[in-house]
Amino acid sequence: MKILVINCGSSSLKYQVFDMSDESVLAKGLVEKIGLPGSFLKHRRGDEDNIIVETDMPTHETAIGLVIDTLVGLAHGVVKSMDEIEAVGHRVVHAGEKYACSTIVNDDVMQALRQCIELAPLHNPPNIMGIEVCTKLMPKAKSVAVFDTAFHQTMPQAAYLYALPLEFYRKYGVRRYGFHGTSHRYVSERAAHMLGRPVSEVKVITCHLGNGASVAAVDGGRSIDTSMGFTPLEGLIMGTRSGDLDPAVVPYLMYKENMNTEEICNLLNKKCGVMGVSGVSSDFRVIEDAAAKGNQQAQLALDMYYYRVRKYIGAYAAALGGLDAIVFTAGIGENSPEVRAEVCKHLGFMGVELDLAKNRVRGKEADLSTENAKVKVLLIPTNEELIIARDTKGLVDSH
Ligand code: ADP
Repeated sequence: MKILVINCGSSSLKYQVFDMSDESVLAKGLVEKIGLPGSFLKHRRGDEDNIIVETDMPTHETAIGLVIDTLVGLAHGVVKSMDEIEAVGHRVVHAGEKYACSTIVNDDVMQALRQCIELAPLHNPPNIMGIEVCTKLMPKAKSVAVFDTAFHQTMPQAAYLYALPLEFYRKYGVRRYGFHGTSHRYVSERAAHMLGRPVSEVKVITCHLGNGASVAAVDGGRSIDTSMGFTPLEGLIMGTRSGDLDPAVVPYLMYKENMNTEEICNLLNKKCGVMGVSGVSSDFRVIEDAAAKGNQQAQLALDMYYYRVRKYIGAYAAALGGLDAIVFTAGIGENSPEVRAEVCKHLGFMGVELDLAKNRVRGKEADLSTENAKVKVLLIPTNEELIIARDTKGLVDSH
């Protein structure tokens, strides 16, 4: 079975085609700047070099149309006709409390996703559009939706409720939902595999450290807490997002700086985090470089970042009542030995012992801990697309 995986953002689109007989990736690529000047498609078949197609793509329909033309094209294609693609797996950010696992898309599902637009106004509309366009252009393929929030639906009430009057949860669904669920699920399953134990027996803390970042406490394969909340703004310090903050800071700054709600949301989401503190960049490579050259604000941003991740690990070890492994994943987690080393510093009392020589690795699965460490530190590159493809296959097979 061949499966197309689509991750449709507001002006970008990522895709991969899987051959599920051996889970190999036949082709992958992305379209950027949809609806903007300079739109282009970057495509790679198997291990071949990337090709770039620069052309005007005013809508998601023209973008997905070009992806389809490329996939069936003689020069760089991987199928003779799109009829060979049995199903399309879509990444969808928010399913509210409606779905705790992936689902075949039908009219009811589309209705539920539209209802969640209020909870994820930036993400759900392009996700929904991706499903609509694929259904139109590939009418024979089944569509499956895989949700970022689904994995965290196992959190207990004590973890997901905020201490607001409960009427706001009941009326508006104000609660912790959590995000990056597909990634936390994938790496926690791989962690159990690397530990050589059943998923149901292991307690792991998964640190997804990318531009957006979150930590999850996973007990026996179930998420019991996670740092992102009602929106992806809560929790860790991120590239441009503040993460945890005293809520009283918000009205205070609005008053002092004469900001409206849109302006304060823009500040908290786009101008804070390591970008806001360092004043240098949101990109960790640039901040690490600046700090190494003596920029103290850059160093401060890094120190604050490490400290916040470490603090969450301590909290989640307590929430789990024990710990078998800490997992690092996503752009920063997979590529920055410094971040991993600094986060694990001072965690020796919990049985965490990083082997600094083993830690000098990037982007591949590895156990980074000393042989006798009670708590293992694992580097596991995330693979959300593979989980989406597997869920899609599983659902299509069983229908
Ligand atoms: P997204 O949330 O956009 O998917 P990624 O998981 O791709 O983000 O992570 C992007 C982050 O990874 C950026 O901050 C980037 O600086 C960081 N990163 C990538 N490569 C390295 C590296 N070699 N060292 C440190 N940070 C890196």
